[in-house]
Amino acid sequence: MTTAERRNAPITSFTPPDRILMGPGPSQVHPRVTAASARPTIGHLDPEFVRMMDELKELLRQAFRTRNDVTFPLPGPGSMGMEACFVNLVEPGDTVVVCRNGAFGGRMKENVERAGGKAVLVDDDWGKPVDVAKVEAALKSAGTVKALAFVHAETSTGALSDAAALCALAKKYGTLSIVDAVTSLGGVPVEVDGWGADAVYSGTQKCLSCPPGLSPVTFSEAALAAVAKRKTPVQSWLLDLNLILSYWRGTGGARSYHHTAPVNALYSLHESLVMLFEEGLENSWARHRRLHDKLVVGLKGIGLELLVEPAHRLPQLNTVKVPAGIDEGKVRRVLLDRYGIEIGAGLGALAGKVWRIGLMGQSCSERHVTLCVTALGEAIKS
Ligand SMILES: *Cc1c(COP(=O)(O)O)cnc(C)c1O
Repeated sequence: MTTAERRNAPITSFTPPDRILMGPGPSQVHPRVTAASARPTIGHLDPEFVRMMDELKELLRQAFRTRNDVTFPLPGPGSMGMEACFVNLVEPGDTVVVCRNGAFGGRMKENVERAGGKAVLVDDDWGKPVDVAKVEAALKSAGTVKALAFVHAETSTGALSDAAALCALAKKYGTLSIVDAVTSLGGVPVEVDGWGADAVYSGTQKCLSCPPGLSPVTFSEAALAAVAKRKTPVQSWLLDLNLILSYWRGTGGARSYHHTAPVNALYSLHESLVMLFEEGLENSWARHRRLHDKLVVGLKGIGLELLVEPAHRLPQLNTVKVPAGIDEGKVRRVLLDRYGIEIGAGLGALAGKVWRIGLMGQSCSERHVTLCVTALGEAIKS
């Protein structure tokens, strides 16, 4: 079809092409999860829906390994969870120590500043984990600090940071911790209570293998106390926890309308979490680790190396160095056009230098690894 013909053609239903999703998200969605979202829409205050919401909160507590009462999904992508943590916890004038070892740490800084706070940055090279000693030095010298914010699993680089050590530092210096667990949840251990983390957000389209558009969050009692003690109202009406909780926390008939929950999307999340616990959380972590190892061996066999040191590699997001003389964009196009495989490009400092291969949730299987290595080997030669 020419552009002009396309412009004049009647618009009909959209049918997406058949794709194998192996980028930084969204990951492959299981037909059970897709089918769940096609079930009849019911009222978002219907007693049966409220019952499902209670199950969803419990499933998320188990996924985050927390007993935090306030654990629920926000109606937006992972970035909404990020924004909710910062707008609720940061008041104008507050200082927040922000660890930046990739693109998402940079977004945290933006969030702090837009909430009127001051960000004290601890920078590490892209591909390296957050340096715990540098964070301690920053906490020592920054004066009164409201929160320490870091990304557990940096999807832009494939590096995993030591969340237990960083949350312990936050405790030692009497500050709250804000943790980005968007890519980690379901793929590697996330131990919210074990770490003593205070505000943690995630997303649905990475290792939970749900369509994008929801952001599970969890808040400790200390984080909620800080929100309750604010001197200024939360500047975002939609994300103000004090208001949202009237809907998500009220018991039985006491729930009141705040926003209309994305009813069908929540069915999907419920189903994906049921599937996660059918497999078992630890089994899911082990599967991600095992298939990551298989991928690394396969990539080595076709002459490719990973960017991140073995000890800090994220199994679910593999940053692969583009060999000299290879047009990285062309390889991705061949993968997509010839095999229907989507992998990710490098972001920011790593643009043009790496590919990002996701093994997240349903996209983490023997079949995905073998297909990807074989197709990538052929695409590089073509
Ligand atoms: C994907 C991602 C986000 C943002 O999630 P969206 O759903 O794209 O808004 C934030 N942090 C990390 C580490 C991510 O991987």
